[in-house]
Amino acid sequence: MEINLVSDTVTKPSEEMLRYMFNAKVGDDVYKQDPTVIELESKVATMFGMEAALFFPSGTMANQTAIKLHTQPGEQLIADKWAHVYNYEGGGASFNSGVSCCLLDGNRGMITAEQVAGAINDPEFYHSPLTSLVCVENTTNKGGGACYDFEEFKRIKKVCDAHNLKFHLDGARIWNALVATNDNPEEYGRVFDTISVCLSKGLGAPIGSLLVSDAKTIHRALRIRKILGGGMRQVGYLAAAGIYALDNNIIRLADDHRRAKELGDLLSRLPWIIRVEPVETNILIFSLKEGLDENLFIEKLKERNIHISSMGHGKLRMVTHLDYREVMHSYVLETFERIVVK
Ligand SMILES: *Cc1c(COP(=O)(O)O)cnc(C)c1O
Repeated sequence: MEINLVSDTVTKPSEEMLRYMFNAKVGDDVYKQDPTVIELESKVATMFGMEAALFFPSGTMANQTAIKLHTQPGEQLIADKWAHVYNYEGGGASFNSGVSCCLLDGNRGMITAEQVAGAINDPEFYHSPLTSLVCVENTTNKGGGACYDFEEFKRIKKVCDAHNLKFHLDGARIWNALVATNDNPEEYGRVFDTISVCLSKGLGAPIGSLLVSDAKTIHRALRIRKILGGGMRQVGYLAAAGIYALDNNIIRLADDHRRAKELGDLLSRLPWIIRVEPVETNILIFSLKEGLDENLFIEKLKERNIHISSMGHGKLRMVTHLDYREVMHSYVLETFERIVVK
């Protein structure tokens, strides 16, 4: 039994999901003739109370499309210093859109309206790049699965409106945030210009993301997706996995959150661990005591069939997910309790 806690992207489609995919009705989605893709797009748009959605092969492409939609070359976006759009999308913001990033020193990947307001360049001061977009992440990835207080989004939105800025949500793990906070997704639809969501993280689909927005913006997004090479043909088979995941795998995210919390509670009692970041959803970040070798520790766990990852700077990460089942959880708790680290 291999236990992979490296990421929630490692899940494999279940028998039932595969069966659902197998039976999908498909067509050529580049001609907008795939009924299953259309169903998925409309389902997700409706969830957020927005007009339209577009299916993407990856969250990166959905985010990059959003940046392209909202900016012109030479302009600047505002994001947290740990933002996925800045750190983990291959420099796409500058490559695809020719924009620079003004990075804020947020709290666990979350930024405030005051910070945003303070980072906007005066549009009359033509020496500086024109600020045109604010990107936030919920939950935060590098921030350890932290969830925004929705009120903060409303405050940031006010700043955006006052300064003519677009507001994009990288909602790769929005489902985790919705389950953890009980927020209403339609409220998200009212605050953000665009929202990207992932089906291939906690929801357990093998692939897929969507960008959600108003109909006009999604129509523009269609061309950008084409340019980026994201127009796909009989892709309803993959969209079907997403529909299955949305119908079956959202509520159970609470199990992932509980298990992460239980791991966090145990780890904070262990003498060889110096710090456990607060656990809000399915990501657990912790640090070993000074002088302990984290690579050695990772190897030691690997010998016991438990795979975790290092985030650098002494931080280690575990992510719970659909394929991390209760028997595995018991074994991991037991192993951590018993293992000798020195
Ligand atoms: C995973 C993730 C994405 C998208 O990643 P892809 O691998 O391109 O699907 C975007 N933002 C965040 C915060 C993520 O965790």
